[in-house]
Amino acid sequence: MQPCEHVRESKICVPELPEVETIVRGLKRAVVGKTIAAVVVTMAKIAVAPPGVDFAAALAGEQIVDVGRRAKFAVITLASGRRLTVHLRMTGRLIVQAPDAQAPYPYTHVRFAFTDGWSLSFADVRQFGRVRLLEADSAWDADGGVEPLSEAFTCEAFVSMLDGRRTPVKSLLLDQAKVAGIGNIYACEALWEAGIRPTRRAQTISKPARRRLHGAIVDVLQRSIDARGTSVDDYVDAEGLKGGFQNELSVYGRLGEPCPRCGNAIVRTVLGQRGTWWCRRCQK
Ligand SMILES: [Zn+2]
Repeated sequence: MQPCEHVRESKICVPELPEVETIVRGLKRAVVGKTIAAVVVTMAKIAVAPPGVDFAAALAGEQIVDVGRRAKFAVITLASGRRLTVHLRMTGRLIVQAPDAQAPYPYTHVRFAFTDGWSLSFADVRQFGRVRLLEADSAWDADGGVEPLSEAFTCEAFVSMLDGRRTPVKSLLLDQAKVAGIGNIYACEALWEAGIRPTRRAQTISKPARRRLHGAIVDVLQRSIDARGTSVDDYVDAEGLKGGFQNELSVYGRLGEPCPRCGNAIVRTVLGQRGTWWCRRCQK
C-alpha cells in the first residue's frame, strides 16, 4: 500500500461518500435531540454564515433534529429549519466529546457546546474544511449530482449520462454535478471492478460495459460503507474509529502489486492531475 499522496494530490484525500456516510451515522446517534447552548468560533474563515448573520449568536438555543449526508457534505438540520453543512475537505474532523472531556480536541476551530454538557467540535489541521450556516429557505443542493445509492441512480439514467461525452470516463465519475460523492478512491475501484480503462472516452463505452460500471459503483460504495469507509491517512469517523475498506482495495494505491483478478502488476498513471491506479490486462 502506497502512502496517501496528500501533499502532491491534495484534492484526492477528501473523505468520499462512504466515509462521510459513516461519520454522519455516528454523529446522528450522538447529537440528534441536543440543544446548542453556545458556539465558540476560533477561526472565522471556517464558520460561514449568510451576510449580516453572526454564526455563533444565531445558533445559540437551536436544537439538532437530524443529521444526514448530501454528496460529500454532512448536513445538520436544526429545529428552525436552518441547516449546517460541513465539508471536511482533507483533514477536517467532527468530534463528539462527553462532559468529562479533559480538553478541546486539538485544532478545534468551531465548538458547539450542548445544554447537557456534551460538545461537538470541528477540528481541522489544514483549515480547508468549512461549516456553513444556511437559512431555512436556502435552495442549497451541494453540486447537484445524483446520489449513487439513491433510487434516482438507475442503470438507464447512468447509461444515457455517458452519451455524447468525450471526456475520460474517470473524469466524468469525479464530476460532482453528475454523480455525487465519488472521489479518486472509488472511481479507481469501480472502473477496475467493471473492467474499464480509466482514460476511455465515456461515449465509446458499450452499453453492457456501462451497465457493469453502474453496478460496480453501487457495489464498491456499499461495500465500503459496510466496512466503515477507507482510512488512507488520518481519516477517522465521528467516534474516532478507523475504517476497514483499505484492506479491500483492489487497485487504489497499489502500484506494482498483483491485480487481484489476473496477477498482472497494477500501474499508476496521471489523469486530470490525479494518480490513477489500474490493470492494463483487465481494463479495456
Ligand atoms: Zn488484472
